[in-house]
Amino acid sequence: DPRLEAISAAIRVVPDFPKKGIMFQDITTLLLDHKAFKHTIDIFVDRYRDMQISVVAGVEARGFLFGPSIALAIGAKFIPLRKPGKLPGKVISESYELEYGHDRLEMHVGTVEPRERVIIIDDLVATGGTLSAAISLLESQGAEVVECACVIGLPEVKGQHKLKGKPLYVLVEPS
Ligand code: 5GP
Repeated sequence: DPRLEAISAAIRVVPDFPKKGIMFQDITTLLLDHKAFKHTIDIFVDRYRDMQISVVAGVEARGFLFGPSIALAIGAKFIPLRKPGKLPGKVISESYELEYGHDRLEMHVGTVEPRERVIIIDDLVATGGTLSAAISLLESQGAEVVECACVIGLPEVKGQHKLKGKPLYVLVEPS
C-alpha cells in the first residue's frame, strides 16, 4: 500500500527524547500532513467499517488523536481510557508496568454493554503493557475486544505476545 510510505515519512524521529537513548516517534508531524493523516484514518476505517464494531476505545493521550475520527466514520461510539484521576464518574482501574514503576488506566463504568465489539486505538505499541491494561478494562465489562490498532509498532519488543492473545494491527514500523 503506497499510502504507508507517506505515513512513515510524515512521522518525525526525535533522538534522546524524553531521555537519552530513546528514539522518540513523534506523530505531531503526521497530524500536520493532511494527506498522510487522512491516509492513516482511511486505512483504519476501511479495515473496521464492516466488522460490526460498535466501540472505539482510545488510550490517553495520543489514542485520542486518532480514535474519534475512526469512530465517527464507522458509526461507533468513542470511549476514552484515561490516566488516573481524570474521569469524574464511577471508574474501573487497571495497573500496568512501565520501564520504571507502574501506571494506571481508568474507564467510566456503564459505557459499554456486554458483548459489544471493541477496537482499541493508540499511536504506538512498544511492550504492549499499555494495551494489555486497556484490554483488561474492556473485558472486565464484558466487551469483546476484536483487535488493537496502532499507527506505529516497535518491532523489537513484540507487543503482540503481551496482548492477552488479541490481534494487533499496526501500519508502520520505525524507519
Ligand atoms: P508500551 O506500553 O507498549 O510499552 O508503550 C506504548 C505507550 O507508550 C503508548 O501509549 C505510546 O503513546 C507511548 N510511547 C512510547 N514510546 C513512544 C514513542 O517513541 N513515540 C510515541 N508517540 N509514543 C510512545
